[in-house]
Amino acid sequence: MGTWGQLRRIESQLIKDLEKTTIAFLRLGEKYGVSRQAIFAFGRKRGIKRPKREHIKECPICQGLIRIAKKPHSDFISSQTIKKELGVGNTDIGYHVRILRKKGLIAQKFGRLRSIKSEWAYQIYFEKRLPVGSIGKQVGLKNFNSIIRKHKASGWDVPDPLFKYDRNERGIRLKMLRKGEGGVAMDKNTRSGSDPFGVD
Ligand SMILES: [Zn+2]
Repeated sequence: MGTWGQLRRIESQLIKDLEKTTIAFLRLGEKYGVSRQAIFAFGRKRGIKRPKREHIKECPICQGLIRIAKKPHSDFISSQTIKKELGVGNTDIGYHVRILRKKGLIAQKFGRLRSIKSEWAYQIYFEKRLPVGSIGKQVGLKNFNSIIRKHKASGWDVPDPLFKYDRNERGIRLKMLRKGEGGVAMDKNTRSGSDPFGVD
């Protein structure tokens, strides 16, 4: 009977598979017990147009997003930086991000950070042994501490800071804050750039 006879018997099903699915020729060949080439030739002879292959594989934006998402701490890369790296300017990449999140190919938090200042602050936070307040000052964020708290509360995986307060210093600081006076004085110091607990 030969390949053609074989295919003729199942052709309505095969035509459906070719027209409606993106199953590879090889897999279809396996399904119908013929070679990949036979499936290809059949589709060609019938002038069947196959639907576009899976979006993600052929989409440069999706591929770029997956590549960036593999970097360390990639959840803390701002959407602005991501767009810049992809060279897509102001293009809305939300569509692609959502597809990839749904498929679990990028983390749920990837692409959610908007503020480039927060990104800078986190970069320092991950790499340098500095108090959070000093990092905030460096990048011009007054509330980096509360940003970290908010992120943690909403499920971001923020590692502990590299910087650890000395136990005594912490005690003194708490006392100062409790007294009030000290707290104000410390605030002034902080603003003038001489944080008594900062590390230079
Ligand atoms: Zn895409």
